[in-house]
Amino acid sequence: MVGEPQDDCLFCKIAAGQIPADVVRETETTLAFRDISPQAPTHVLVIPKVHHPDAASLAAAEPAIAADLLREAGQVAGEEKLKSYRIVFNTGSGAGQTVFHAHAHVLGGRGMQWPPG
Ligand code: 5GP
Ligand code: ZN
Repeated sequence: MVGEPQDDCLFCKIAAGQIPADVVRETETTLAFRDISPQAPTHVLVIPKVHHPDAASLAAAEPAIAADLLREAGQVAGEEKLKSYRIVFNTGSGAGQTVFHAHAHVLGGRGMQWPPG
């Protein structure tokens, strides 16, 4: 069923507490934890606890949770005292998505280039 935990999904396992993570925030619908391979001084992933393969699919199926995700990304940035930051949703392997469970990257604490690589 849409949104159900997937046996082979790393972030479903982290959301369920089956794999440890450095959690920075948790709500009823979301979990925020530090990326294992940080690309900036602050690099936090915000995931919905429900499984959807990418951010747009999440927004289409459960818009309220997509809003929770964005709000939590902002909360993380605030707690990390980031004046400027980037929220990234890699979507599709060609864009660098490697984990097919929706997640926002919250990146900050260093200068950022545009366009991104
Ligand atoms: P994507 O490449 O799909 O946009 O982002 C997946 C992110 O998950 C990557 O930045 C990667 O470093 C991170 N990641 C992969 N495995 C783990 C893990 O076991 N724990 C944590 N905290 N992050 C992970
Ligand atoms: Zn999942």
